[in-house]
Amino acid sequence: MDFEYTPEQLQLRKAVREFADAEIAPHVMEWDESQTFPLEVIKKLGKLGYMGAIFPEKWGGAGLGYIEYSIIIEELSRVDGSVGIILAAHTSLCSNHLYKMGTDEQRARYLPKLATGEWIGCWSLTEPEAGSDAAGTRTTAVFDDGQYVINGAKTFTTNAHHADLCVAMAVTDRSAAQHGISAFLVEKGTPGFRCGKKENKLGMRASATGEVIFENCRLSEAQRLGTLNEGFVDSLRILDGGRISIAALSIGMAQGAYDAALRYSKLRKQFGRPISEFQAIQHKLVDMAVEIDAARLLNYRAAWMLDRGKRVTRESSMAKLFASEAAVRIAGEAVQIHGGYGFIKDYPVEKFYRDVKLCTIGEGTSEIQRLVIARQLLKT
Ligand SMILES: Cc1cc2nc3c(=O)[nH]c(=O)nc-3n(C[C@H](O)[C@H](O)[C@H](O)COP(=O)(O)OP(=O)(O)OC[C@H]3O[C@@H](n4cnc5c(N)ncnc54)[C@H](O)[C@@H]3O)c2cc1C
Repeated sequence: MDFEYTPEQLQLRKAVREFADAEIAPHVMEWDESQTFPLEVIKKLGKLGYMGAIFPEKWGGAGLGYIEYSIIIEELSRVDGSVGIILAAHTSLCSNHLYKMGTDEQRARYLPKLATGEWIGCWSLTEPEAGSDAAGTRTTAVFDDGQYVINGAKTFTTNAHHADLCVAMAVTDRSAAQHGISAFLVEKGTPGFRCGKKENKLGMRASATGEVIFENCRLSEAQRLGTLNEGFVDSLRILDGGRISIAALSIGMAQGAYDAALRYSKLRKQFGRPISEFQAIQHKLVDMAVEIDAARLLNYRAAWMLDRGKRVTRESSMAKLFASEAAVRIAGEAVQIHGGYGFIKDYPVEKFYRDVKLCTIGEGTSEIQRLVIARQLLKT
């Protein structure tokens, strides 16, 4: 075991941190309040190689692993979780589904554009009636005259309104349940494909979340992604890696909230001394620091295993469950340490408190993570 970052990882962390402090931090509240998607920053992240970190250089990626990918998401989310989730949905859901399940022709056509941020990707599994029970997908893809005709609607798709490419799941064989769903690559501008309502959210407001609608959308067979009828099973594998990104998102925001609380506790004086001198405040800071460390170690273990080609269903679910729930607690304590000022938008902890809640819901709720982990524990 080796608990050290490599010199390259430290350099990467420094570079992303400097980028986030210089290019993101000054605009965070403005983007949040106006729900502005930070397109310019996303394009810059693409040029720096951060939108395709986990893909081989051959396909336009940076050739890095999930530890480096986690470092990137942590550092961006330490400043703004919205930027973290935009990058996460683009990379480990949309682009990774294409990379893992696509043909070389499909990869060559789309991956270099996605990995360099020239194109933005989104990934649509959830539907109004099929959330945790995603196998209950209702959107259909009927084979007709050599083409698939897609009809239905997806909800809560991150990046939907800004995406150039959407990976969407649709039923191709209703009688086969989980083994009757396929994945499709849908380009922006395809007739019959459009975005619907953009959600007005509690947090992560600079990221766009919304509906994706299919009305007699005709796709050639070349746009089917992966094995026919195995799109849902493939999605579960993609979510194994995706959960590492949600854990990293949680850890980044928890770190941002903790840093702010630590700083504030040394500056704020009550009863003639800094509040950091009160044991009650110290204990909060200690519990926050311990949980951040534990979450990060759990997540790096899952990332390390995935980089070695191991199956990480249990480990990534554990990391996602613990990190997201810890981050919600940590953001709450960070507000508490700020007292009344924690409730005011002039201080960053108010936003972390709102943003972080998504992490216990997206890519499988905490209840579903427990269900996934229980299945893994009971089968051994
Ligand atoms: C901001 C945001 C971004 C998102 N981005 C994407 C995206 O890019 N792509 C995408 O496909 N989806 C996305 N989602 C959807 C997200 O993955 C779902 O919201 C999530 O999986 C939960 O589904 P649901 O909202 O329908 O809740 P439900 O499934 O209706 O759950 C409601 C409650 O019931 C509980 N519950 C459900 N089933 C069980 C069970 N068997 N046992 C115990 N408890 C249970 C849940 O844990 C939850 O507490 C996003 C959601 C949000 C809010």
